[in-house]
Amino acid sequence: MRVQAAVAETPGRPLSVETVDLGGLGPNDILVEAKAAGLCHSDLHVLQGNAPGYIFPSILGHEGAGVVIECGERVTRLKAGDHVVTCVIGECGHCAGCRSDRTNLCETRGVEGLAAGGRPSRHFSKDGQSISTLAGGAAFAAYTILDQDFATAIPKSIAWDVACLFGCAVLTGVGSVLYTAKVRAGDAVAIFGLGGIGLNVIDGAKMAGASRIIGVDLNPAKEDLARELGLTDFFDGRDTDVAQHIRALTGGGVQHAFECTGSVTVARSAWLTTRVDCGQLILIGAAPPDRDRFEITIGDIQLGRVVLGGVMGKAKPRTDLAAIIDRFVAGDLHTNRLVSHHLRLSEINEGFRMMDAGESIRSVVMF
Ligand SMILES: [Zn+2]
Ligand SMILES: [Zn+2]
Repeated sequence: MRVQAAVAETPGRPLSVETVDLGGLGPNDILVEAKAAGLCHSDLHVLQGNAPGYIFPSILGHEGAGVVIECGERVTRLKAGDHVVTCVIGECGHCAGCRSDRTNLCETRGVEGLAAGGRPSRHFSKDGQSISTLAGGAAFAAYTILDQDFATAIPKSIAWDVACLFGCAVLTGVGSVLYTAKVRAGDAVAIFGLGGIGLNVIDGAKMAGASRIIGVDLNPAKEDLARELGLTDFFDGRDTDVAQHIRALTGGGVQHAFECTGSVTVARSAWLTTRVDCGQLILIGAAPPDRDRFEITIGDIQLGRVVLGGVMGKAKPRTDLAAIIDRFVAGDLHTNRLVSHHLRLSEINEGFRMMDAGESIRSVVMF
């Protein structure tokens, strides 16, 4: 079939909305009609040419929600009419990775999902030439085909603009708290960068019972919403002594510092806010390849501090995602407060401009 999609032709250029070809359904595949897609920093990271080896032209977007239209003959978990959220990684449910609580990377669907940007899509083409997709879900296309293991059915009561955020921003932010850092009740948490991910870290920290949730951002306008979600203290990131202030405020540092900006300078500052005996730095923001390292001494580590990371907050993209959605339905998350702009597909470049300028929280394309 012929479908509309926002295509990245080359790095550094705006996306162009074009008609592309979508191939047939494989036995494990589902055809999804897109309803909403969130714009994520990882899309911008690729678009700005920061992913070496990435194949262009490409359909970006990896935070999608839509309706299942048709299922391949071996699809068992989903049916036509289901509302689904799609994710960049999948979960087969039975390999060693899926059965382990140490990783969320499925042995087949995890690596396959992450490598999608490195190779041509099985499904999308333009003028007879295959094009790549950032995720199997290709969220910036009006219809997409993906393996059932990359999609999760959600309650039909959840609005589309909110639903899509669970595929990346919520999974990553809340997941980093619950499954990467494993924050406990009473812990102190610092969050660097109060954008779409950072605000979800607040939601997760609140759920985990953190006693102190400290936010740092360059934009003081972000403080109000963050406090509404549960932030207890705010610091302006332009203050060069911010780590010192946080250590003083918490009597020696936080148990967990979350870096959500992708800046090494910020990562270093976040590291310095952690307790010297048991502090954890959780790295979430993607850094450009030429600015992705900072110094930590052996002595730092020997006292008991650690640095952690994980794809999608180490949350499993179907089972943990479904559990997080249950918590949203129960009223424990503020995901509906995170959508700042609704765009048409033709307005997608304005969405990325606002993201780059720090003017939006989460912009969502509505199909
Ligand atoms: Zn993302
Ligand atoms: Zn698996």
